Amino acid sequence: MTSPDSVSTPLRILICQGESDRRQELVEHLERESFEVECVQGGNGTCVETALRFGPHVLLVDEDSTHSSIVKLCRTLQRSELIEGLPVVACVSDISTGRVERLEQAGVVEVLAAPTHPALIVHCLKRLEQIGALQESGSQPGSMSRWASERAAFEASLREAEQRGELAVCYQPRVDAADGALLGMECLVRWNHPQFGCVPPDQFIPLAEETGLIISIGEWVLREACNQTQYWRDKGFPDVRVSVNLSAVQFQDADLFGTVQRALKDSGLPAEWLELEVTESTLMGDPSATALTLENLKSLGVHLSIDDFGTGYSSLSYLKRFPIDALKIDRSFVDEVTTNPDDAAIATAIVLMGHSLRLRVVGEGVETTDQQTLLRLLGCDEIQGYLISPPIPAERFEERFLGGRDREVA
Ligand code: C2E
Ligand code: CA
Ligand code: CA
Repeated sequence: MTSPDSVSTPLRILICQGESDRRQELVEHLERESFEVECVQGGNGTCVETALRFGPHVLLVDEDSTHSSIVKLCRTLQRSELIEGLPVVACVSDISTGRVERLEQAGVVEVLAAPTHPALIVHCLKRLEQIGALQESGSQPGSMSRWASERAAFEASLREAEQRGELAVCYQPRVDAADGALLGMECLVRWNHPQFGCVPPDQFIPLAEETGLIISIGEWVLREACNQTQYWRDKGFPDVRVSVNLSAVQFQDADLFGTVQRALKDSGLPAEWLELEVTESTLMGDPSATALTLENLKSLGVHLSIDDFGTGYSSLSYLKRFPIDALKIDRSFVDEVTTNPDDAAIATAIVLMGHSLRLRVVGEGVETTDQQTLLRLLGCDEIQGYLISPPIPAERFEERFLGGRDREVA
């Protein structure tokens, strides 16, 4: 462990995100304490690059970041050996136990309740310094180029993953909240890396998005999902709808309509059995352009749903404009729906809002029967989560949910 005065250079703080007026006040406060401060706004890649150049002792994620974006940032930091141990302090407005635990598991050393007074942040940083929790990272000569080569190597292997057959998809059932009948399945991509084993999508989708590789990976996933679902239809299994995630980059791709149309045509899957999931944050850009893209897709006959709903603050008037079929309540609200009254209130509001727009509402990340029962009582139409099944390969999905006795799941 480092001794209290081992950080001889001034403490360097990298501030990530944060609302600009508040950030300015915080920077002034930290500088008065003789800290060196740098701010960064933008994606995780930009944040890592700044960290490598600046060599901070600590990364402060200030307000307005969602829990899941902080977890993703921590995972990106861990991918670079030069800054993998960089301590992260996060200011978040929701400090309920489950959320804080998730941040700590991802590597956040200190979670502070937002809005956090600058003096409290200073106090926290000094305490971390005293206990030896802050050490220099990045900023050694050559660290930028090492990061660039690590990234380039990862990108090159992702580029080849598709040709080498390392990508695979799994299916997770979506069932009727009232009687447990199977209604559909979500198709989720996996990367079986020859060296690192199974790389979860959260760790490679952001890179695939930054590099544009998501377009071909996304098309491959879409075609797999359509072919598999039509194969099951051909075998005479009951009709179930397959849902496929579309990232923001795919959503903005001028050829998206053609890609979906070709995947349907080539597989023979009728459009009504395909659902496209778009996250709430993807839809929050230009409402007119978003509505047009959604209307085009809808004209094919596919279903559309809003994923991670509740994290993006979209309003009812906004939603009314979009030809959407379903809302998926974000897992973070389901997590503590039975113990945190705020989460129960949010879930209730989403169900009411969804039903008032005649949308189906799906609860995601359901892990316990208590969560299932409460969501059903709140009026949720469908549920999805480990309670029913984790995502599993197609053959297992067929055995467990389509072919045999298990078709009706409780
Ligand atoms: P998502 O669309 O919100 O997918 C649900 C994620 O929650 C999946 O993680 C799933 O395994 C996980 N999950 C489901 N039930 C439970 C539960 O009961 N408890 C917990 N703790 N987790 C549960 P996964 O497969 O790791 O995917 C993570 C994210 O990666 C997805 O989040 C989606 O945003 C993205 N993703 C996955 N496949 C694709 C794809 O083919 N294309 C695109 N663009 N994104 C994808
Ligand atoms: Ca999804
Ligand atoms: Ca989701």
